[in-house]
Amino acid sequence: MSRICDACGSAALVPFADLGPIPVFCGVHWASRDEALASPLGDMRLGYCPECAYVRNLAFDPTALVYDTTMDTNLHHSPAFQTFSAELVKHLASRYPLAGATVLDIGCGQGEFLRELCHVAGCRGHGYDAMYAGPVGPDPSGAVLHSGHAPLDETTPTFDFVTSRHWFEHLDDPHGFLVRLRELAGDRPVRGYLEVPDACYDLATAGWEVIYPHVSYFDAYSLCRIVERAGWQVAETGPLFSGMFRFVEIAVNVPASATGRKLPGPADRDRQLESIAGFDNRHAAEREHWRSTIDRLLAAGDQPVLWGAGSRGVQFLHLADPDGRLAAVVDVNPRKWGRYLPVTGHQVGSPASLTDLGTRSVIITNPAYRNEIGTALRELGVNAELLVA
Ligand SMILES: [Zn+2]
Repeated sequence: MSRICDACGSAALVPFADLGPIPVFCGVHWASRDEALASPLGDMRLGYCPECAYVRNLAFDPTALVYDTTMDTNLHHSPAFQTFSAELVKHLASRYPLAGATVLDIGCGQGEFLRELCHVAGCRGHGYDAMYAGPVGPDPSGAVLHSGHAPLDETTPTFDFVTSRHWFEHLDDPHGFLVRLRELAGDRPVRGYLEVPDACYDLATAGWEVIYPHVSYFDAYSLCRIVERAGWQVAETGPLFSGMFRFVEIAVNVPASATGRKLPGPADRDRQLESIAGFDNRHAAEREHWRSTIDRLLAAGDQPVLWGAGSRGVQFLHLADPDGRLAAVVDVNPRKWGRYLPVTGHQVGSPASLTDLGTRSVIITNPAYRNEIGTALRELGVNAELLVA
């Protein structure tokens, strides 16, 4: 049975890449290796829309992936991400009339962004996330934090601004989500900010971020299409964070702002369709390239390691090192130290554990962290080459 495009609603999605079974819980780490090895797999069968270049996992099963407080997809342990997030808060506070306003933050993580936005912009806020593990209720910042999905029913607080960072792509029904927010806005002026991984990057590269929790893959064009089809105006859109993220600012019941900027058009869509056409072969070639690279490094007596045990790292390990031949996997998040990664069972160590390992090659899967990790290696006294996968 074919599925009609979630973004533009005007064409059936066409299958183009089958990645097979991949880890479902790439943001979970386990206390024992056995638990990690028994962690479930789910199918990733990508389909694209020939009209708007939207991409979706056609095999996604929402019952396979239930979010709870044991999951840790937090990006805030990285200084590069913290800096980026702090600049975003300043940008939003200066661009929008947020003083005294109420912000709805859907998929608020551990509340870092919402607290900072309330603090800097002088707004109030309600944050919702099933992965939120902190104290529930009002916070001194002006934020009220809820552990659970945003109900988006009549109990939803009246909001002036809605934010959702790195959550929209996880939804089984992203269009229905935007339609519901539009209904809740009613005839009030409401603005918003959505941030997602940029599919222009993910589908033009190896695709380490093509992970089970990501149901949708939005490029510039399809992101605007889904926003507009749900009844919102696109106020602004663009790439962020070394091109790995993409934002769209949305509005309803406000005068159209004349930014003078050109919104994404058919030429952007066609570029994305080209990336999609080459993805299956590229993905397979990258997987083989990294398997043989690890072979070569080991044969030369090196102790190659992976730095970064987030979702990209988990997907890389599943595809390129399923037998656990890397000498170590390290991460800056102390909550992961000593714990085991899903499906492959790699144990995560601290970066400091690299000092005595004698490694000459450190693999990273996220070029946005290249400088940060390079600096950290120098501070540890580890003289190794950074290899960007
Ligand atoms: Zn479409």
